[in-house]
Amino acid sequence: MGIVCIGESVEQARAAARIATAHPGFVVFTAGVHPHDAAAFDPVADREAIAQLVAEGAVAIGECGLDYHYDHSPRELQRRAFATQLALAGETRRPVVVHTREADDDTAAMVREAGAAGVRGVLHCFTGPASLAETALEAGWYVSFSGIVTFRKWDGDDVIRLVPADRLLIESDSPYLAPVPNRGKRNEPAWVALTAARVAEARGQPVDDVRAVTTRNAKALFSLA
Ligand SMILES: [Zn+2]
Repeated sequence: MGIVCIGESVEQARAAARIATAHPGFVVFTAGVHPHDAAAFDPVADREAIAQLVAEGAVAIGECGLDYHYDHSPRELQRRAFATQLALAGETRRPVVVHTREADDDTAAMVREAGAAGVRGVLHCFTGPASLAETALEAGWYVSFSGIVTFRKWDGDDVIRLVPADRLLIESDSPYLAPVPNRGKRNEPAWVALTAARVAEARGQPVDDVRAVTTRNAKALFSLA
């Protein structure tokens, strides 16, 4: 299992594609437009650019989603950009990597609708609530935990436990969210091992099991060899 290099904008996705091309079999990439940048999302040109990147090998569409915490883009435009990318995921049969923050109801509604249309995906860096995880699981989606679960203020072990083994993912979200004891540093993909250990502890499972199932799940979701 290698590295999934996330494109949060068309430009970033093109850069991620170049990294992936330089490291075949180790780095794969995704292409999408982050909700922060939804105001500038062009439903024709950007949709086409993402479709082109999918044709060039993007394993997923995203990050896309809704962020009502920062509200860097108007919510209506966030929903429009997200809906466009979910529809494209359906057409291109790619999964979606979804960012959601303080937008639980709207995210749940859109995930439910996408799931019914056959779109699969992952809620990345998940921090709750449990009801949103349940909606995603019912839609056939995955739930991914990051270094946040190692932070002292984390109190969501019940959510970690509610995700069945075959839908569980972990991620680094590098360069952000370095897990304890490296909090505050530039995150490194290798430190995802610290997140794996914390997830294993919360689930009362051997860490080797968590490593095995999350690797298998990532391969399944992103159709990796
Ligand atoms: Zn995110």
